Amino acid sequence: MTAPNDTQALKALVGDRVHLDEALKAADVAPLLMVLIHLGGDPAWLDRIAPHIQGPWSFHEHTPDALKAELRQAVADLLADYASTGRQLPITPPMHLLPRMLDVCTGQKVPAEYYPMVLEEMDLAGDDPKTVKWREPVARETLDHFNVLVIGAGFSGVAMGIKLKEAGIAFTIIEKNETVGGTWYENSYPGCGVDTANHFYSYSFNNNHDWDHFFAKRDEIFHYIQRNSDANALGDQIRYNEEVTSAEWDDAAQLWRVEIRGNDGKSSSATANVVVSAVGQLNRPQMPTIPGMDDFEGPAFHTARWNHEADIAGRRVGLIGTGASGMQVGPAIAPIVDNLTIFQRSPHWAMANPLYFETVSDDKKWVLKNIPFYAKWFRFQLFWSSSDGFHPMLQIDPNWPDQKRSLNAANAKIREQLEAHIASELNHDPELIRKSTPDYPPYGKRMLRDNHWYRMLTRTNVDLVTDHIDHIEKDAVVTKDGVRHPVDVLVFATGFQARRMLSPMHIQGRDGVTIRASWGEDDPRAHLGMTMPGFPNLFLIYGPNTNLAHGGSAVFHSECQIRYIMQAIRELVETGATSVEVKEKPFWDYQERVDVAHRGMVWSHPGVTSWYKNAAGRVTQNSPWRLVDYRNMTEVFDPTEYEFRGGATGSEKAA
Ligand code: NAP
Repeated sequence: MTAPNDTQALKALVGDRVHLDEALKAADVAPLLMVLIHLGGDPAWLDRIAPHIQGPWSFHEHTPDALKAELRQAVADLLADYASTGRQLPITPPMHLLPRMLDVCTGQKVPAEYYPMVLEEMDLAGDDPKTVKWREPVARETLDHFNVLVIGAGFSGVAMGIKLKEAGIAFTIIEKNETVGGTWYENSYPGCGVDTANHFYSYSFNNNHDWDHFFAKRDEIFHYIQRNSDANALGDQIRYNEEVTSAEWDDAAQLWRVEIRGNDGKSSSATANVVVSAVGQLNRPQMPTIPGMDDFEGPAFHTARWNHEADIAGRRVGLIGTGASGMQVGPAIAPIVDNLTIFQRSPHWAMANPLYFETVSDDKKWVLKNIPFYAKWFRFQLFWSSSDGFHPMLQIDPNWPDQKRSLNAANAKIREQLEAHIASELNHDPELIRKSTPDYPPYGKRMLRDNHWYRMLTRTNVDLVTDHIDHIEKDAVVTKDGVRHPVDVLVFATGFQARRMLSPMHIQGRDGVTIRASWGEDDPRAHLGMTMPGFPNLFLIYGPNTNLAHGGSAVFHSECQIRYIMQAIRELVETGATSVEVKEKPFWDYQERVDVAHRGMVWSHPGVTSWYKNAAGRVTQNSPWRLVDYRNMTEVFDPTEYEFRGGATGSEKAA
C-alpha cells in the first residue's frame, strides 16, 4: 500500500492517470467506497451506494455501472488532490462514520462490540497492534538467561518465531520436516487448497497482495509461509528434520528438559524456560483399520502422505473418505484416472462460492498494492464474510420442530439453499441426490466448499459407493453388500488423529503428571485452549477447543493465542518469575463454560459424528465462541488466574 506519508509515491500513482483509471476498474465497489470515505469523509457516498451492496462478498454487490464509474473517478480525484496539496493521508477513517462504513461495506449490521477487533485486524497503521511490547526496558543479560523452545514451524510456529524475534527473546524451533509450512508442506495431494479466502487467511501483520487466487492452492500458501520465515531470517533458529519426542518439567531447575530425535536417528537434549507447542491438531494422519488392508498390492497412501511416485493416470482409483481432503482430491484426479470409485461413509455439506475458482487479475493485485487502505478494507470485507455471521445458525433452537434435519430457522434456510445447489449440480438425478444429501443439519460436520464435487459425481468414470466397506483384497475393495470394486490404487482421505493431541510426544509436567494421564486418550483440555494446571511454562497454539468450525481463519486464532502467550512470557521476564502455571479454578471454570456453550450447538447434535468430539461425545476440538468472544477473552493475559514462582511478583506454591 502506498504509505500515508509518501507523497512521492502518491504523485507517481496519480501521475499516470490513464493507468490509474484503468486499474481502478478492477477494484471491488465496497472496499473502494471505504477508501473514499476513509480519505474523503463524505457520507453522502455511503447513502448512494448502500442500496446496491447486499452482503459482504463482491458478488453480493450490484451497483449500476455509471455509479461505479463515478465512484472510481471520485477516488482518483481525491488521491490527486492529496498528491497535489501534499496533505498526509489519515491513518484512521473518520471515527464518527465508522459504524455506518462497516455496515455499508458488509451489507449487514456490524455490532459495536466488533469495532476494536475490526480495527485491530485491519492494522491500518501497519504496526501490528497485537504486538506485545515490553512495559519497561529489559536488561540484555535477563534476556540472555531466557529461552523458548517452539515445537513446529507451520503457520503458527513461524508467527510465534517472528514475534519472539521482534521481542529479542532467544528461541529455537524444532521442526520434524525438512522445511517450514507444517500442514501446508505435508499435504501435497492434487487439489489441495484452502477454504478460507487468502486475503484473510494470512498474517494480519503481513498482508500479501500477490495471491494469485482468492482461495489459494497448497503451493501458494506454502510459499507464503516460507517467505515469511525467510524475510524474518528464522532459518537460523529452526532445527529441521528433528522431532521432539519428550519434554519433562524439572521443577527444581524450573525449566523444561526436552529430548529431540533427528531424522538421522541421532538424539539430543535441550533445555528451555518456556515450551510452546505449535503442532496443531491435524498433523498425524488417521489410517483406518479395515480387514485385508495389508493384502492390497497396489499403491495405497493417505492424502497427507501423497505418493507422487504412484502413477494414477489411466488407473482405477479408490478414494476412501469424503471430508475436506477427499472432496478436494476427487475433482482434481477424476479427469485423469480411468475410473474413480468413491467410498463414502456419510455425505458432507458443501457450499458454493463463485470466487473459489477465480484468479486475482494483475489489475486487482495492483489496486491491492497501490491504492491506500484498499487492501485493509478488502481484508475486513472477507473477514466479515467468513466469520461470526454463521454462528447463530449453529445454535440449537429447543423449540425448532425439525431437529433432526436442521437446528433453527436460519439453519433450515441454509439447508434449503444447499439442497437446491446439490440438486442443480447433480442434474436433478434422484439417486445421486439421495446419496449426497446429509441427514444431519448443516454445519454438523465441517462445512466444505463445493470444489465441483457434485459435478464430478455426474461423470461417467466416477462411482459413488455408499455401502460400507467390508474388507479389502489384493486388487479390490469389497462392500458389505458383497459387491467387489476393482481398484489399482487406494487413497485414504480418512482424516487425522486430532483428539489424541500432542501425540506421540511424551510430555510430563510438575509432580510427574503426563499429558496422557491428564487428558486420557481423547479428552484434551486447556484454559483458553492454551494452558494446563500441572504444566508450568507450557503453552499450546491451536490447542483443545480452538478449532474454528463456524467460520473464521485459523491464522486469526493463532495470532490471538500468540499475543496471549507473549504477554505471559513478558510477565515472566519482567518480574523475574521462573514459572507461570494456570490455577485449577479458572481452568475448570473455563472447561465448564466451554461444555455448556457446546451443549447448545450443532456439533453436540446426536445425529452427527465427526473428529470434533471424543468417544464420550464431548466436543474437544472446536471453539464454541464467536471470534469476537475469543479475541476478547485472550486480549489481556490475566496474571491473577496464574500461579507464579520466583521473581518480584511470584508467590511460592502452597505446599
Ligand atoms: P475428515 O474431515 O476427518 O474426513 C475423513 C473422511 O474419512 C470422512 O468422510 C470419514 O467418514 C471418512 N472415514 C474415516 N474413516 C473411515 C473408514 N474407516 N471407512 C470409511 N470412511 C472413513 O478428514 P479430512 O478430510 O482430512 O479433513 C480434516 C480437517 O482438515 C478438515 O475438517 C479441515 O479442518 C482440514 N482440512 C481443510 C482443508 C481446506 O481448507 N480445504 C482441506 C483438507 C483438510 P465420516 O464422515 O462418516 O466419519
